[in-house]
Amino acid sequence: MDVLILLLVLLLTVAVLAYHRASLSLFTAAIAIELAVATFTGTVGLASWIIFALLAAPLNVASVRQSYLTKPLLKLYRKIMPEMSSTEKEAIDAGTTWWEGDLFRGSPDWHKLHNFPKPRLSPEEQAFLDGPCEELLRMVDDWHITHERADIPPHVYQFLKDKGFFAMIIKKEYGGLEFSAYTQSCVLQKLTSKSMILSSTVGVPNSLGPGELLQHYGTKEQQDYYLPRLAKGLEIPCFALTSPEAGSDAGAIPDFGVVCKGQWEGKEVLGMRLTWNKRYITLAPIATVLGLAFKLQDPDKLLGDKEDLGITCALIPTSTPGVKIGNRHFPLNVPFQNGPTQGNDVFVPLDFIIGGPKMAGQGWRMLVECLSVGRAITLPSNSTGGIKAAALLTGAYARIRRQFKLPIGKMEGIEEALARLGGYAYMSEASTTMSVGSIDLGEKPSVVSAITKFHMTERMRQAIIDAMDIHGGKGICMGPNNYLARGYQGAPVAITVEGANILTRNMIIYGQGAIRCHPFVLAELQAAGLEDERAAVTAFDRALFGHIGFAISNFFRSVWLGLTNAAFSQSPYNDATARYYKQMNRFSAALALMSDVAMGTLGGDLKRRERISARLGDILSMLYITSAVLKRFNDDGRPAQDLPCVQWACEDNLYKAQQALDELMDNFPNRAVGVVLGKLLFPWGRRLRKPSDQLDHQVARILQTPCEARSRLATGVYLTVEPNNQIGLIEKALTDILVAEPLFDKVAQAAGKRLPFYRLNEVADLGLSLGVISEEEAEKLRIAEQGRLHTINVDDFEPTYLAADKSLFAEAAKSSSAAA
Ligand SMILES: Cc1cc2nc3c(=O)[nH]c(=O)nc-3n(C[C@H](O)[C@H](O)[C@H](O)COP(=O)(O)OP(=O)(O)OC[C@H]3O[C@@H](n4cnc5c(N)ncnc54)[C@H](O)[C@@H]3O)c2cc1C
Repeated sequence: MDVLILLLVLLLTVAVLAYHRASLSLFTAAIAIELAVATFTGTVGLASWIIFALLAAPLNVASVRQSYLTKPLLKLYRKIMPEMSSTEKEAIDAGTTWWEGDLFRGSPDWHKLHNFPKPRLSPEEQAFLDGPCEELLRMVDDWHITHERADIPPHVYQFLKDKGFFAMIIKKEYGGLEFSAYTQSCVLQKLTSKSMILSSTVGVPNSLGPGELLQHYGTKEQQDYYLPRLAKGLEIPCFALTSPEAGSDAGAIPDFGVVCKGQWEGKEVLGMRLTWNKRYITLAPIATVLGLAFKLQDPDKLLGDKEDLGITCALIPTSTPGVKIGNRHFPLNVPFQNGPTQGNDVFVPLDFIIGGPKMAGQGWRMLVECLSVGRAITLPSNSTGGIKAAALLTGAYARIRRQFKLPIGKMEGIEEALARLGGYAYMSEASTTMSVGSIDLGEKPSVVSAITKFHMTERMRQAIIDAMDIHGGKGICMGPNNYLARGYQGAPVAITVEGANILTRNMIIYGQGAIRCHPFVLAELQAAGLEDERAAVTAFDRALFGHIGFAISNFFRSVWLGLTNAAFSQSPYNDATARYYKQMNRFSAALALMSDVAMGTLGGDLKRRERISARLGDILSMLYITSAVLKRFNDDGRPAQDLPCVQWACEDNLYKAQQALDELMDNFPNRAVGVVLGKLLFPWGRRLRKPSDQLDHQVARILQTPCEARSRLATGVYLTVEPNNQIGLIEKALTDILVAEPLFDKVAQAAGKRLPFYRLNEVADLGLSLGVISEEEAEKLRIAEQGRLHTINVDDFEPTYLAADKSLFAEAAKSSSAAA
């Protein structure tokens, strides 16, 4: 009995110390003290001390441990770990880890999250948003751009160049705007709320492309020449990586350059002959400078010993003889400038390599480093702007549009989709702001940027589907009054570019996340790669035993947090949000545990088990987005009105995290491990639920009712009321309708009839004749009717207007008049 109690006390001690991540020496000391007490009470004798010494000595004495444990384990590790390709190594080395690392490690510090500064605009940046941005949006007519012209008009291009829209990332010393990542995001969000083409066209030169690459890696001469020209819009850049044979597997591009001597501007210089065939390149048809990625070969060893130098990036003026550009692709009826480019044996000097000849072969590293930053800005911002606009417009539309004598937004089925729009609008703003904020803090967050890119573009796709469903035929019939269809058509573009989403979810998020965020895995890998065996053993020993302690701790944390439903774990606030922090503590510990279990049982095979990796990445992503939501709520001053959106977003994400963990257990390759851990992590079953119907109702109401929470959801959307801005017009119509409703009720009551809520101008006349409303009130009813009709009506066209080839109609007309 006494021995049983002792064993229980020992287990409890180990569990408590492990939960708090105590050191090995503290474990050893605590167990020794308990053994001493047990010896004193006569519960144990010498045998127990011998067992203790046999276990504790090799673990605590470094030289013994390294000789008898670490060395053989290092040998085994080297045998089972697969070789990493150089492109994989460079991808993993690129960028930094940030808050996602804390979430990955099983014990997030919530004060740290809330202490990250809230991104803010400088007065100059705010003035740009209020000035040139608004002016630009007033200039554009999206239907003219997307349908009539299939391009941005020349005067708008000129405005973009003159005002520095293409130079947001370029430093002031070169004439650029040098905006923060947060400001770039605000600009893109604002542009996208009216025109996707505008935001894509502005996004690309400010993202991964010549400007970014030159600032980081260019030679002084290249910077001095190109950056002021890019800032002034004298150069239009594009960046060409993708080829027909290499899309997602961009490291496998067949495009190549051969180092050789040749003639350049009348002199013989060392250069390269380039051959490429690229496609899908944004801005290529109108580019003046082509950023080109290719594999550089040096068969004659003119640069050194290596024949295959690897992926290299160069800047090629498109006026160079042999450069082919001009043709356009037609990306899903969102006709921004995008097309192929080819070149065959085009000779350029080696100085065209970005960073000069010394950067030959460094292209892949340059690209993945820049992508770590760019991927968090352009597509997440465009998606967030799109989601916010869709949420606002759809809320207003659902309140204005009536069927069955009710605003459709009052119907429960519509509320479900509206709630998703509201929840996604809140969480996408929160996540994008937090991610771009990390860039402004100096991070190059490769995992965060992949999470943000994937999840914001996916949520944008769902949001636009929900918005289309709620709009019915109004969303489908295209024309100047349709503000959704282009977003719906264009959604797959964001899904596909900068890492197609299936690949991003299945390989990149967790593939990079596991190695980058884990506190010991990278250290183990690096230790195993050391050539000096002594140094390798010492470093591997530190990493491996740290790792074992970490895994034990995560096991006990996960079990305890599962048993108690995290009820006693830490939360920085004791209010309606506390349970979300606590659930995150639980999922964070479970993720850390499952990561180790997956890596331990699958080893290098985890790389190929993409669906296991995807689900682990989903848990990490849901934790990241939920923490962004809670941070936003805090940064905004915890306004009670926003709680429904905050709760909806947290509950949706945490439910998805539970689903991912559940599916992970169900599909775990080692069934026994999946079943046992499933029971340990969910001892009371899967208890989290989707947002309730009641919560859906509250969020749907926010979207349909002008209020502070709704205005906060719309932050940064272009709301100006002007003839070409549907969002401004529909917002005005919503306000006008809400003003008219009580007047309508007054007239209907006086008339003693249930009037239908249309022909409000006739209702105005009736009210005047009954003497129950004033002329001023009658005018409000007439204005509301105009807005109502504008909101529900769709465009129609003469039959010939829609044909791309008008000559067919001219021929038909000619032959019918000839026949007559
Ligand atoms: C409109 C547009 C603009 C673009 N702009 C540019 C540009 O300016 N510059 C540039 O260089 N490129 C550009 N691209 C190219 C873009 O980056 C590629 O389209 C993208 O990398 C995917 O390549 P792919 O289309 O050939 O698809 P594929 O590589 O053929 O992929 C097809 C599918 O397979 C999936 N997949 C591939 N590998 C895996 C894997 N290991 N695991 C799971 N799933 C996988 C992908 O996720 C995708 O769903 C643009 C593309 C488009 C459509």
